[in-house]
Amino acid sequence: AANRPVDLRELLDSTLTMMKRKIGDGVRVRTSYDPDLPQITVYAAELNQVWTNLIDNALYAMGGSGTLTVRTAREGDRALVEIADTGPGIPEENLERIFTPFFTTKPVGEGTGLGLDISWRIVVDRHGGDIRVESRPGDTRFQVLLPIS
Ligand code: ADP
Ligand code: MG
Repeated sequence: AANRPVDLRELLDSTLTMMKRKIGDGVRVRTSYDPDLPQITVYAAELNQVWTNLIDNALYAMGGSGTLTVRTAREGDRALVEIADTGPGIPEENLERIFTPFFTTKPVGEGTGLGLDISWRIVVDRHGGDIRVESRPGDTRFQVLLPIS
């Protein structure tokens, strides 16, 4: 797949539309897009997989009710995409393990433990970006940083 300049807002909105049924009626979706963010050159299909993985995890954590927030912003020479949920959060002792292949806290059949491993490879290895996580009960944020230019 080729990389091409895209509007992050369009990628995120199309992922949200595709996931509409899964998001369901109990979860409120809030979007906040930085209108001044330039287009960035990315592998769009792969990044859509990242948003899907992160939103999947957020929905699972919220168990059908809560608020999903999708936000973009500019951070220096990088674009920030933040996916946040109001679920119970990630225990401190798990934070450094969640990107490890096959690490999952989900019952057999519900999680492969590969979503964040794949997301890391797409963002960091493929795009030269970074992923940060901030989590406390009621407020978990996955922040994807992508180079602009
Ligand atoms: P899987 O979803 O198959 O378990 P992932 O790699 O996507 O695998 O996630 C690994 C683990 O990270 C999850 O099992 C869960 O423990 C934790 N996790 C990821 N996202 C969240 C979140 N938004 N809230 C709480 N825990 C999370
Ligand atoms: Mg997952």
